[in-house]
Amino acid sequence: MKVPDTPENLEICKRFCGPCPTFQENKLMDTEPHALFCARGTTKKADCKSKGCNCPNCEVAEKYALTGGWFCLHPPK
Ligand code: SF4
Ligand code: SF4
Repeated sequence: MKVPDTPENLEICKRFCGPCPTFQENKLMDTEPHALFCARGTTKKADCKSKGCNCPNCEVAEKYALTGGWFCLHPPK
């Protein structure tokens, strides 16, 4: 199921991607698409290092039955 890029989903994403070490240490907010990767696609930041992922706990992931996490690096299946 495709995740819609809505302000509501972005607000939820901020609570999970926001504190994520992968998000913070790679400064993903500074590079498009900034956040809500499950809807907008993977980060355009080169050499993004995986440090952990909060997607499995996120309400958006639950609502749209997303599995796997690390959506800044890999699109949801
Ligand atoms: S599943 Fe991950 S990328 Fe999608 S809204 Fe939640 S924390 Fe953000
Ligand atoms: S998609 Fe997952 S790994 Fe990437 S920043 Fe968001 S919570 Fe972290």
